Amino acid sequence: MSNTASILSSPIEYLKGVGPLRADLLKKELGIFTFNDLLEHFPYRHLDKTKITPIGQITMHMEYVQVAGRLIDFEVVGERKGKRLIAHIRDSSGTMELTWFQGISWVQKMLAIGEEFLVFGKLGFFMGKPQIVHPELEVRTAYNADGKSLLEPIYPATEKLKVRGLNGRNIAKLTAALLPQLHPNDLPENLPAHILNKLKFPSRYHAYFSIHFPADQEQYEAALRRLKFEELFIAQLRMGMIKSNRHRFSKGVVFDKVGDLFNNFYNHHLPFQLTGAQKRVLKEIRQDTARGHQMNRLLQGDVGSGKTIVALLSMLLAADNGYQSCLMAPTEILAQQHFNSLSNLLREMPLTVKLLTGSTKKKEREKILDDLQSGNIQLIVGTHALIEDPVQFQNLGLAIVDEQHRFGVAQRAELQTKGKLPPHVLVMTATPIPRTMAMTAYGDLDYSVMDELPPGRKPVTTVHRNETARPSIMDFVRKEIAKGRQAYFIYPLIEESSKMDFENLMKGYEEVKAFFPEPQFYISMVHGKQKPDVKDTNMMRFKTNDTQIMVATTVIEVGVDVPNASVMVMESAERFGLSQLHQLRGRVGRGSEQSFCILLTGNKLTNDARERLKIMCATNDGFLIAEKDLDLRGPGDIEGTRQSGTLNFKLASIVQDKEILEQAKIFSDELLQNDPDLSSAENLLLKSYLLLKKGKTEWSKVA
Ligand code: ADP
Ligand code: MG
Repeated sequence: MSNTASILSSPIEYLKGVGPLRADLLKKELGIFTFNDLLEHFPYRHLDKTKITPIGQITMHMEYVQVAGRLIDFEVVGERKGKRLIAHIRDSSGTMELTWFQGISWVQKMLAIGEEFLVFGKLGFFMGKPQIVHPELEVRTAYNADGKSLLEPIYPATEKLKVRGLNGRNIAKLTAALLPQLHPNDLPENLPAHILNKLKFPSRYHAYFSIHFPADQEQYEAALRRLKFEELFIAQLRMGMIKSNRHRFSKGVVFDKVGDLFNNFYNHHLPFQLTGAQKRVLKEIRQDTARGHQMNRLLQGDVGSGKTIVALLSMLLAADNGYQSCLMAPTEILAQQHFNSLSNLLREMPLTVKLLTGSTKKKEREKILDDLQSGNIQLIVGTHALIEDPVQFQNLGLAIVDEQHRFGVAQRAELQTKGKLPPHVLVMTATPIPRTMAMTAYGDLDYSVMDELPPGRKPVTTVHRNETARPSIMDFVRKEIAKGRQAYFIYPLIEESSKMDFENLMKGYEEVKAFFPEPQFYISMVHGKQKPDVKDTNMMRFKTNDTQIMVATTVIEVGVDVPNASVMVMESAERFGLSQLHQLRGRVGRGSEQSFCILLTGNKLTNDARERLKIMCATNDGFLIAEKDLDLRGPGDIEGTRQSGTLNFKLASIVQDKEILEQAKIFSDELLQNDPDLSSAENLLLKSYLLLKKGKTEWSKVA
């Protein structure tokens, strides 16, 4: 590939029809700076120029129409502000009025009585007769003569652009000026020949032409499919190469022995039999960490599938091999809880486990920092502050991140600096992520799935009720408590600062208290505005069954584990997102008792809310719920992935184009299998394309 700058990198003001003023607008409004940006400003639909409506068949329901007819008359009427140009065209079925208020003299020059015109515009009615104000007008023969596309592209535009004469249709004049200037060398092929042949794709050069100006619908679809495939394929390939390079070249600490700590715990202190899925994932982790390369693994498991014990056993493996490990959680509550359960499980093991969070007292903190550096602490639990702090480890060998959704790329990068060799990384998701999303956003990671719940679990029974059912719900909760169970009441507090939500929480607390008075009942309350020690006391009292009821906001969401709790009432459930509802519901159904989740809502519900509630009542399967969530919300809104930018494709959508994505993945896997360095002749084009685009990608994840 030559080094001379391609015409595509020319500034947009160099294009015919784009002066400095328009260039400025294109930059500001659409981010179009270069010829290439314009080329990649794709039309969102095409107007079918062959579709002409007979005037006699126009109805009130049509929005835009295109008619073809002969101009029969025109005249300028009115004065000053009322001045307008009125023309009539006629086809074999009727007559239609056209009106202009602006550019009258300019339009007038175009008009010639008796000439055949193609007229397009937004339909209006005056005294029951169809008319178009400011129609677009073209002499019809021109279209037949030049044999050009009859599908006219319409582009995304903004109001400001429209005012400046660059509406969705006029942008087509710019692309029409650009495309003929492009030579096949400006858009060299980047897909290997065997893929092109097998999938019957048009060349890259042709695809760019046809996506803007297709000859017909079929050609457009072929171009679109090719360009979508290209986007997804390149993304898969980049991810795949990061993974493959890590497998082949990265250096990692070696955990090659299963020692006393692991065996002792496994044989004598494990409180239950591991599920098949837990065993399988542990095996994957053991194999991964023994090879001398760095592990970077995503562990997906549904709520309650038992990820914590997998984390603990992995940490013992690290300790057996003489390495420290850390477990990071997104909130203090969760860090505290992990710490409690780990220290409890490990109480008879000769290991030092510590907790480090933002609220660790200065003196203790200093001691912990010293002990981490000298290696006196083998195992540390904390919030993400653990890696943001100037924490020095003696030899960190394993970092486990719980609830990946909130753990960003930057934080993962930070981790890499904590040891001489990069530590192994295990990220555990809070709830499953849809497969397509995992493939695209985390495609550089190895991937484990725990699709099995511990035995004896009964699926949570979920129902949707409205306000009128409150008294009977309270009766139900009372009966459960009488059986020795505990209950959650969850209130939305999406923004911790929302005053309204906070007032509702307090009101709710009083209401619950009225139904469940002391001394017969005791209530814990947990929310984000509390001091950590108040929060902890409330949590602990609930955990030890000192209180039977927990009134809480969503701070309770992540990973809180009280197996004796069997009822969850979610207030204003319509305000929660699907994966959040699922995650919250996962707080019950953790023991062997039948558990219940009651989704309380008002009467007025949006269709989306109704759909979410329906899905929640229909299934407990987190993998299924994740798919539905993605379908409902689209990839942009899925929490925590936004900043990664990895899901934003120009053309492809991981929701609508699942099938193309799967195909791209198969081809990219196969290609990397056969030629991991892209050194074969057939893959050279691809390789140079990747190198060329390297600086522009957002895929620079942890190396
Ligand atoms: P999550 O995957 O949501 O983090 P946890 O690790 O918190 O799940 O485990 C949920 C509950 O299931 C805990 O009470 C834990 O002790 C229990 N548990 C985990 N694995 C098993 C198992 N194999 N058999 C029985 N109970 C288990
Ligand atoms: Mg968990």
